[in-house]
Amino acid sequence: MGASARQRATVRHDHWIGGKPSEPARGSYLPTLRPATREPGDEVAAGGPDDVDRAVVAARAAYRAWAALPAADRSSALHRVADAIAAHTGELTALERACTGKTDAQLRLETEMSAAYFRYYAGALHAHHGRTIDQGAGALTYTRLEPYGVVAVITPWNLPLNQACRALAPALAAGNAVVVKPSELTSASTVCLARIASEAGLPDGLLNVVTGTGREVGTPLALHPEVRRVAFTGSVPTGRRLATVAADRLIPLTLELGGKSPLVVFADADLERAAAAAVNAVAANAGQVCSATKRLLVESSVHDPFVREVAARLEGLEPARDFGPINTEAQYAEVLDHFDRAREAGCRPLTGGGAYEDGAPAGGLYIRPTLYAHVPRDLPLAREEIFGPVLATMPFTDEAHALALADDTAYGLVASIWSGDTARGLRLAERIQAGQVTVNGCPLTIETPFGGYKQSGYGREKGLEALHEYAQVKTVSLALGSS
Ligand code: NAD
Repeated sequence: MGASARQRATVRHDHWIGGKPSEPARGSYLPTLRPATREPGDEVAAGGPDDVDRAVVAARAAYRAWAALPAADRSSALHRVADAIAAHTGELTALERACTGKTDAQLRLETEMSAAYFRYYAGALHAHHGRTIDQGAGALTYTRLEPYGVVAVITPWNLPLNQACRALAPALAAGNAVVVKPSELTSASTVCLARIASEAGLPDGLLNVVTGTGREVGTPLALHPEVRRVAFTGSVPTGRRLATVAADRLIPLTLELGGKSPLVVFADADLERAAAAAVNAVAANAGQVCSATKRLLVESSVHDPFVREVAARLEGLEPARDFGPINTEAQYAEVLDHFDRAREAGCRPLTGGGAYEDGAPAGGLYIRPTLYAHVPRDLPLAREEIFGPVLATMPFTDEAHALALADDTAYGLVASIWSGDTARGLRLAERIQAGQVTVNGCPLTIETPFGGYKQSGYGREKGLEALHEYAQVKTVSLALGSS
C-alpha cells in the first residue's frame, strides 16, 4: 500500500514507482493541511532527483512493451483503470476531501470525470492510427503515430485527481509511460490512483508518481534526459520557467495556465440561467477553477438589477454545503490581499469581501462569496486571476464594447456568452480570443478540446486533440521497385 502509518496519527504517502510504493531517497516527508479546519493532514514523501531518476528509469523500461500491445489490449487495461477508480471512489474522495475540503458534490463530479477520461481514451485509441499516402505506383508510404516514451505530467492543487487523469489517460492511451508530479499540497489521491491502477493490472512502471516540491521534483523531472515530453497545468510563472527548460532541451510541452474568463450577458439573454451560471462560477470549487468565468460583463440596460440578483444569490450560499474552502494558506492570504488592494483603490463589494469571522467556517480557509460591481478595467480586480470566490462586474453598451472588454485581458482560456440572439452569440464566439467559447451555457465535456490562447498557454488537453499531443508522427516509405 502507498500509505503507511509510521506514527500513531500521521499517515504517510510514499512515491509509487515501478508498480510499488517507494520511500523517498532522503527519508523525509512534507506536511499537508486540512483547509476545512486548518488541522494538519497526511504527510507526503519529499522527493528529490534520485527518486525522479528511479521513476524515469522504471517508465523507460515499461513503455516499449506497452506501446507494442494491440490497441484492444491497451484499451482493456485502461477500462480496468476506469473501473478501479469507480470502485475506489470512497477512498479517493476521502483523500481528496482531507487536503482540499471540497464539497461532496464537487468531489463526486471530479471523481466521475477522472474515470470517464480513462473510458474516453480507452475507446478513442482504437481509432488512433496513421494514414497511407499515395505517391504513385512505385511506393508504399504510410504514417505511424508513435509514443514519445516517457512523459512527465506536473499538476496543481485545485483539481488534483481530475487534472492528473486528464493528462494521464491520453498519454497512456497513445503508448507512453508517465511520471506524475502532483502538487505537494494535494498528492495523496494521485498516489492512490497509481496503486489502484497497478492492482487493476496496469503493467508496472507505466504510471509512476513522485511527490515533492516543484524545485526538488518538478524541475529535475523536466530536465531528465529520458523525459521526452512535459504536460504542465499550473500558474503562468511556473509555466514560463518550464517553457525555458523545454526550449533548452528541445522537447514539446503542453501548458495549461491561468484565466480571467468573461461571462458576457446581453439584455435579451435568459437572465435566470445566466445568473445561475455566474453563481456557479463562484461556488464550483470556491472559484478555484482556471476556466471559471468570473469577469461578469453585463449590458448596461440590465447591469444593475442583474448584479443585485447575483449578489443576493451569493448571499444564499452556505460554506461547506455549497462551496469549499480555499485550498492553501498562501492562496487564502492572496485573496484577502486582493480585497485590501480593492479597498485602497476605493472599491466596495456589493457582497462579501472578507473571510468568515465566527462559527465553523472561521476555523477553516473559507472566504465569503464576493461581488464587486462597476470595476474599473485597469484595476487588478478586473485584470488578475483571483483564485477564489470573487466576481468582478463591468457594464457594456453594445456588441463591439462587449468584445473589447472580453478581450481586454492577458489570458484567453474560456468565454461564456448569453444572448437571445444566437447569431450575435456565434459572431462573438468566433471573434473572442479564447480557446473555448460557450453560448447560452452549452457544457464543455471530455470530448471538447481544452486549452488556452495568449497567456493561458498552448497545446490542448481533452478530446481527440489530446491523443495527438502525446504522439509523434513517423513517415515510412518503401520503394516497391519495378515488376
Ligand atoms: P504552480 O505553478 O505553483 O504549481 C503547479 C505545479 O507545478 C505543482 O505541482 C508545483 O509543485 C509545480 N512546480 C512549481 N514550481 C515548479 C518548478 N520550478 N519546476 C517544475 N514544477 C514546479 O500552480 P498552483 O498554485 O499549484 O496552481 C494554481 C494555478 O494553476 C492557477 O494559476 C490556475 O489558473 C492554474 N490552473 C490551470 C488549469 C488549466 O487547465 N489551464 C487548471 C487548473 C489550474
